Amino acid sequence: MKTLLTALVAMIIGGTVRAESIDAGPTGGRLLANAPPRAEFVVNAERKVEIRMFDAELHPVAVGEQVVTVIAEAPSGKTTLTLTNSAGMLVSTDPLPEGDGYNVVVQVRAAAEAKPQNFRVALHTGVCGGCQRAEYACTCEEHGGGDAHGH
Ligand SMILES: [Zn+2]
Repeated sequence: MKTLLTALVAMIIGGTVRAESIDAGPTGGRLLANAPPRAEFVVNAERKVEIRMFDAELHPVAVGEQVVTVIAEAPSGKTTLTLTNSAGMLVSTDPLPEGDGYNVVVQVRAAAEAKPQNFRVALHTGVCGGCQRAEYACTCEEHGGGDAHGH
């Protein structure tokens, strides 16, 4: 109960965003710190965004009533990607705009009318030499929590 209260207070004060280490997603992406089921952010080979959901034990669950919005703050301008449900996961209909190193904001709502939790992912699509993961999902100590994971 105390944890729930703390989480609620953090949501109210911080608009849900806070610096913390990055969790490795089961599909090689970045596991967002949203309320379970947690969303994993993956950029696939076509530069399309894939969102999968996992329960507290990291077992995959189909995306149900959660609503996810992805906003690319690309050099060419802000672009909101449309996500469609495909076999229980969400896939963007269009690839991410050209460029590397810009921020992608992922808004996760537990349901259509719920307050969104916002996560900012610095889109570095290279592979990290330290953890061998995609840079945007890097779990190395010196990167986790050090990037623009907040306002
Ligand atoms: Zn790394």
